[in-house]
Amino acid sequence: MSAVAALQAAGMTATLDFLGEDVTSRAEAERTRDAYRVLLDAIRERNFTANVSLKLTAMGLLFDEDLAANSLREIVGLAARNPDPFVRIDMEGSALVDATLRVFETVYAESPHVGPVLQAYLKRTPQDVERMIELGARVRLCKGAYAEPPSIAYRDMPAIRQAFLRCAEALLERGHYPGIATHDERLIGAVERFVRERGIARERFEFQMLFGVRPELQRRLVAAGYRLRIYVPYGTHWAGYFYRRITERPENVLFALRSLLAR
Ligand SMILES: Cc1cc2nc3c(=O)[nH]c(=O)nc-3n(C[C@H](O)[C@H](O)[C@H](O)COP(=O)(O)OP(=O)(O)OC[C@H]3O[C@@H](n4cnc5c(N)ncnc54)[C@H](O)[C@@H]3O)c2cc1C
Repeated sequence: MSAVAALQAAGMTATLDFLGEDVTSRAEAERTRDAYRVLLDAIRERNFTANVSLKLTAMGLLFDEDLAANSLREIVGLAARNPDPFVRIDMEGSALVDATLRVFETVYAESPHVGPVLQAYLKRTPQDVERMIELGARVRLCKGAYAEPPSIAYRDMPAIRQAFLRCAEALLERGHYPGIATHDERLIGAVERFVRERGIARERFEFQMLFGVRPELQRRLVAAGYRLRIYVPYGTHWAGYFYRRITERPENVLFALRSLLAR
C-alpha cells in the first residue's frame, strides 16, 4: 500500500497482483480469492484509485473452470465498491488462452469492469484483438512472457514489435481504453507518434509498466502528460514471476539483487 501511495504521489496509477499461479487444489484457489478480498478492502479503505490484476490459474483454472469463473465473478462484484472497479485478467501460457478468454467473456457479459491481456507474440492475437474491439472490452496489450513454439508465436524481436504495433494501432483507433504494456522505447515512441498523427487523446489509453523497471522512462511519460499504470506484484509466491523476468532479461538478476541489498 505504501508503494501504491508513492506511485499516486508521482502521478501514476497502479494495478496490484497477488503473486501465484498454477494452483492444483481447491484450498489454494480459495486462498487466492480470499487474498483478493483483503486486497480490495485495503484499496477501498485508503480510497486509492488502484485496480487489481489476477491469474485464473491461481484460482483453479487448471482443474475447474467453473471454480475460477465463480471466483472471478465474486472479485468483480467486490471491486465494484472500489473507486476503480476494474479487474484485469493476466494472460498465461498459450494452452490457456481459449479458457481464459472464455471465462472473461462469461463474466464480461455480467459486468463491463473486467478485461483480458493479449500477447502480441501469438499469431492468433490480431483475431482476438478484433473480437475485443467488437465487444468493446478493455485490453492490455503486451509482448508475451512465456516460451512458445514458433508454429504459434513470433520468436524474433522485429516480428514481435511489428505485431505489437499493428495490434496497438487497432486498439488505439477502434478499441476501448487499451493498456499499452511495454518498456520498449521503440514501441513507446511509435505509439506516441501514432496518437499524435491520428489526434487520439491521451485520456483514451494508458501506458503500463512493471514496478521498478525503467523508472526514468516512467517519469518521462508522466511529465509528458501520458497516463501510466504500474503493475505492482506482491506476496510470497514470487518464483514464477521472477523466473519469467530473468529469462526475458538476464540483467534482471543484478537488478533484483541490487534492490534486495538496498533494503
Ligand atoms: C504492466 C505489464 C503487464 C504484463 N502482463 C503480462 C501478462 O499478463 N502476460 C504476459 O505474458 N506478459 C505480461 N507482461 C510481460 C510482457 O509480456 C513482457 O514479457 C515484458 O513486458 C517485457 O517486454 P517489453 O515490451 O517491456 O520489452 P523488452 O524488450 O523486454 O524491454 C524493452 C527494453 O526495456 C529495457 N528494460 C527491460 N527490463 C529492464 C530492467 N529490468 N531494467 C532496465 N531496463 C530494462 C531494456 O532496455 C529493453 O531493451 C506484462 C508486462 C507489463 C509491463
